[in-house]
Amino acid sequence: MAELFYDDDADLSIIQGRKVAVLGYGSQGHAHALSLRDSGVDVRVGLPEGSRSRVKAEEQGLRVTTPAEAAAEADVIMILVPDPVQAKVYEESVKDNLKDGDALFFGHGFNIRFGFIKPPAGVDVCMVAPKGPGHLVRRQYEEGRGVPCIVAVEQDATGNGFALALSYAKGIGGTRAGVIKTTFTEETETDLFGEQAVLCGGTAALVKAGFETLVEAGYQPEIAYFECLHELKLIVDLMYEGGLEKMRWSISETAEWGDYVTGPRIITDATKAEMRKVLDEIRDGSFARTWMAEYEAGLPKYNEYKKADGDHLLESTGKELRKLMSWVDDER
Ligand code: NAD
Ligand code: MG
Ligand code: MG
Ligand code: MG
Ligand code: MG
Ligand code: MG
Repeated sequence: MAELFYDDDADLSIIQGRKVAVLGYGSQGHAHALSLRDSGVDVRVGLPEGSRSRVKAEEQGLRVTTPAEAAAEADVIMILVPDPVQAKVYEESVKDNLKDGDALFFGHGFNIRFGFIKPPAGVDVCMVAPKGPGHLVRRQYEEGRGVPCIVAVEQDATGNGFALALSYAKGIGGTRAGVIKTTFTEETETDLFGEQAVLCGGTAALVKAGFETLVEAGYQPEIAYFECLHELKLIVDLMYEGGLEKMRWSISETAEWGDYVTGPRIITDATKAEMRKVLDEIRDGSFARTWMAEYEAGLPKYNEYKKADGDHLLESTGKELRKLMSWVDDER
């Protein structure tokens, strides 16, 4: 059974006694900086001169300096810039500002797991990764709740790395929901696999293939959109609440029978063999190397894929249809 930690297991005064730099003010950065500040922590935000996020952070009452100044002032440095630029930010602004006893924090293990960042031996290397998007992390905190986090210590130079990470997690509301202990390796590999094989890649490909099959057979795109994309949310909500069992309790017996006999024809042993290959490429670092090379080349393929999917009939159909769905508007 995984080890779980709650508010009573974490000592907020540890992080309150440190100086924290949050580098980046995007989805996660703004949530961490604002919630730590509201938890009584001494926070500064590190952003380059001319960054558009600067004005926003200042308007929200935070002190903003350059990433190098923030790293120099602080003894806990949380890196929340995009994963492919973290190594550059580390080299340019963090490395020379690390002292023995400082702590380097991450929201995802990518750069440590694949060796793009190699911190010196005298610093703690910790991760606090909320299992939800940054805007939800902030909203839940403000509502007195929290998004569950996973916490890891890669290098425990001071011997207090885990207590510090738990304290940080408490500062952003994570221990209100529950914190699970993991490792940088487990977090990085499962996060990449999950988003590629199931959550984003697998689901997007399944939805597109189903939609195309119906439209190519002559059905109306609007009907295909409802069947293959819109209703997915309702099904996933049921799974989230009560697993496959609750989903199957709610659907018709016909749908349940179709689920048992057809699901395994769509996701076959061959699909699972391919999943194992995807996992192998994550673990041997080849996915990370390819992605970093693509990023450094200026994202040529990424932009091509983005454009192709943006032009897909599924997307234009959905855009028109959603305007007519008053109930979707209400949720927005
Ligand atoms: P983001 O893209 O939303 O924001 C990045 C921020 O970094 C922006 O404020 C940008 O201005 C700033 N930035 C870009 N280049 C910079 C530079 N050279 N120097 C300083 N700042 C720079 O990023 P994000 O999605 O919040 O991701 C941050 C980290 O959190 C990543 O490690 C990611 O894997 C992890 N994470 C994100 C989420 C999420 O909800 N998006 C969830 C879990 C973990
Ligand atoms: Mg982002
Ligand atoms: Mg993830
Ligand atoms: Mg991820
Ligand atoms: Mg149906
Ligand atoms: Mg039923």
